[in-house]
Amino acid sequence: MLKEENKIFKNLHGFEDWKLDGAKKRGIWSDTKEIIKKGSDFIVEEIKNSQLRGRGGAGFPAGLKWSFMPKDSGKPHYLVVNADESEPGTCKDREILRNDPHILLEGCLIAGFAMHAHKCYIYIRGEYFLESSNLQKAIDEAYDNKLIGKNACGSGWDFDIYLHRGAGAYICGEETALLESLEGKKGQPRLKPPFPAGVGLYGCPTTVTNVETVAVAPTILRRGAKWFASLGNPNNTGTKIFSISGHVNNPCNVEEEMGIPLKQLIENHAGGVIGGWQNLLAVIPGGASVPLIPKSICDNIKMDFDSLKEVNSGLGTAAVIVMNKSTDIVEAITRLSHFYKHESCGQCTPCREGTGWMYRMMKKMTLGAAEYQDIDKLLDVTKQVEGHTICALGDAAAWPIQGLFRHFRPEVEKRIKEFQIDRVA
Ligand code: SF4
Repeated sequence: MLKEENKIFKNLHGFEDWKLDGAKKRGIWSDTKEIIKKGSDFIVEEIKNSQLRGRGGAGFPAGLKWSFMPKDSGKPHYLVVNADESEPGTCKDREILRNDPHILLEGCLIAGFAMHAHKCYIYIRGEYFLESSNLQKAIDEAYDNKLIGKNACGSGWDFDIYLHRGAGAYICGEETALLESLEGKKGQPRLKPPFPAGVGLYGCPTTVTNVETVAVAPTILRRGAKWFASLGNPNNTGTKIFSISGHVNNPCNVEEEMGIPLKQLIENHAGGVIGGWQNLLAVIPGGASVPLIPKSICDNIKMDFDSLKEVNSGLGTAAVIVMNKSTDIVEAITRLSHFYKHESCGQCTPCREGTGWMYRMMKKMTLGAAEYQDIDKLLDVTKQVEGHTICALGDAAAWPIQGLFRHFRPEVEKRIKEFQIDRVA
């Protein structure tokens, strides 16, 4: 269990004051100027040494990403915070935005300074009304108290933060689609390269990064990279907010140490699986786009990037969707297929055509109204989509289906058999 003193988010559940006075009591904005005075190289190096990996899903090393920004490009630099949290099952960033917005704003200033950016845009999911309202109030407070704006915190660095509300497309959570949307265009992912660090917002060097990643940075810099790296396991360090939903007695968001066993996470924080651990069928451990894992793997798996990758799944956004034995697992994955079909931006053929085809085939599988050979045909199509698209939505649509057949193929075959018997009868 993560000790209280090691928690970064001290108002995750909103029991305390989220405004500036409350934030200051929690140590936020306490020595921001001193951190900035240490210089951008120090900040980037410290984030690298902490081994912090991006909390938005991909798990890319944050310090390395920050170091990709050129030092002197002769152009404006931008920090863009991705608050377009839309992955099914994921509801962690909203708690930070709503209950502790100043921890994010302080992180924006420090990260922006480290990347030589004077401007920051926070792109927030449009449906997050209370979150954007609280965040805007916090931005106003920060301006009024000279924490941001001209000579932010007395550091000599000018820094502006703008809040931009999205319009509800899941694909705008993809970093380059987000930039397109921010520029006022249709939110469709860009071909890469060039990457945003070279050509990003308005053609200028840009880093797009997740809310939680930015929000943990000030605490890492205050307490030191060694402290952060001492939590969790090598290459999977620090703390993480887990969103636990589905068939548990107490769905919740909780900050825990990276690498906590899944069973412990569910039993200690979410009140256990409804019907008991033996009633567990499967878990999607990292938001809808990662493959599910059956109970046999859940028994001993650790919740970190590398452990979950080893079992052909992923930590993703650490949104743990628990399904007990009352779940129609085929229908559940079919529902996800529908989501990806609906959210495909339609720009590239394998995704535009493939997501629709996969969904229709999954619907047949749910009923059993397919042929045995359709299973391999469907899996082959998932392989044709995976890795052959402009952005990762294609992979996200393919992986849940692959996970289903990896672990529950007999269940689908049983349905096909029963359907055929019924047809003959
Ligand atoms: Fe759009 Fe899908 Fe292609 Fe991504 S993979 S660019 S969502 S069509």
